[in-house]
Amino acid sequence: MLILVANLGSTSFKYRLFRMEEQAGEVIAKGAYERVTDYAEVIDDALATLQRDGVITGPDAIDAVGFKTVLGKDLSGCVIADQAVIDALDGFTAVAPAHNPAYAAGIRQFAKSLPKARLVALFETAFYQWTTAASATYAVPVSWRDIGIRRYGFHGASHKFIAERAAELCGREDVARVARRLYLDGPQPVAGPPLRVVSCHLGGSSSVTGIRNGVAIGSSMGFSPQSGLPQNNRVGDLDSGAIPYAMRSLGISLDEAERQLTKQSGLLGLSGVSNDIRDLYAAAAAGNPDAQLALDTLVHSIRHWTGALHFELGGLDALVFTAGIGENGVALRAAVCANLEPFGIHLDAARNAACQATEAVISTAASAVKILVIPANEELVLAREVFRKLS
Ligand code: ADP
Repeated sequence: MLILVANLGSTSFKYRLFRMEEQAGEVIAKGAYERVTDYAEVIDDALATLQRDGVITGPDAIDAVGFKTVLGKDLSGCVIADQAVIDALDGFTAVAPAHNPAYAAGIRQFAKSLPKARLVALFETAFYQWTTAASATYAVPVSWRDIGIRRYGFHGASHKFIAERAAELCGREDVARVARRLYLDGPQPVAGPPLRVVSCHLGGSSSVTGIRNGVAIGSSMGFSPQSGLPQNNRVGDLDSGAIPYAMRSLGISLDEAERQLTKQSGLLGLSGVSNDIRDLYAAAAAGNPDAQLALDTLVHSIRHWTGALHFELGGLDALVFTAGIGENGVALRAAVCANLEPFGIHLDAARNAACQATEAVISTAASAVKILVIPANEELVLAREVFRKLS
């Protein structure tokens, strides 16, 4: 099956074309466009390029297109990308302004350019469909809840991949099978002890998710991707009382407050140096206290959420690091795991130091909790889910 995974930003279009067979997928072509103003033009150009290069015989050779949609109003899951998906994206444009209009436009255009292909949307919120009402609900008035204000959770594609791979690495094929088929069959009972995983997706955007028997039970991200851990330049968790106070005290508008919280906060706002953790380590090593505070705040927040989800899971079997910082951040992983031996979490310093962007077990042989590094590959995750949906 030839599956094109479309990654649409507010001014960018990237794609990878996969040849998929069961779990395995091979990228047979990829491309990227920046400063996009007209999706029709670049999508048609990409299809023409694939044909000219002999990758496809014609547009009809592409069986399906997958979209990693972020957040839909009253809609989630891994679903056929039809008008209902476009309406759901349009309904939450205000919450995900950089992504929802781009995906709505992209889906419309692919429907025109590839009329024979199946279009599939995998919402980033999909993995959280089965969290309890208590964990998904904010204590706001009913009128707020009626317009969709609740905890959704994000990075669902990445965390679901961790649910599958962590189960395999823990020798729990029964749980891995449930996780793989989750969007087809929903949560399924598992014989034997529960498998409890905390997955830390730490990248430009970061979140921590608790997973029991392949199913998410909660996440650090809530209503929007602005919540949870401090992000590269987004605030993360913030007391709602701080916003009206800052607006009144600093004399700034709501739009300006939103801009500062989404563009000038997080690691960048804390450090005043950079939104890239590598720069923060360099600045901290040179004695910059603000860079050190940014790093310490990130570690504190990861531990805070890991601890909360660990408790909620009733124990922990695996702690997983993924995405750019999780895969490469040796010092950060060590800081997150420091002094957790009373909870059965024993990091092996040498294994941790040796692990850069590869899959590895980085806990000691005696550690009750397996500490794992699992590289993220969100395009492949998407291609797999599209393949499963259509097979
Ligand atoms: P995005 O969310 O943008 O897809 P990535 O998952 O690619 O992000 O992660 C980007 C982050 O990974 C950056 O903040 C960068 O600092 C971090 N990173 C990349 N390489 C390293 C490294 N060698 N050590 C520590 N962090 C790294």
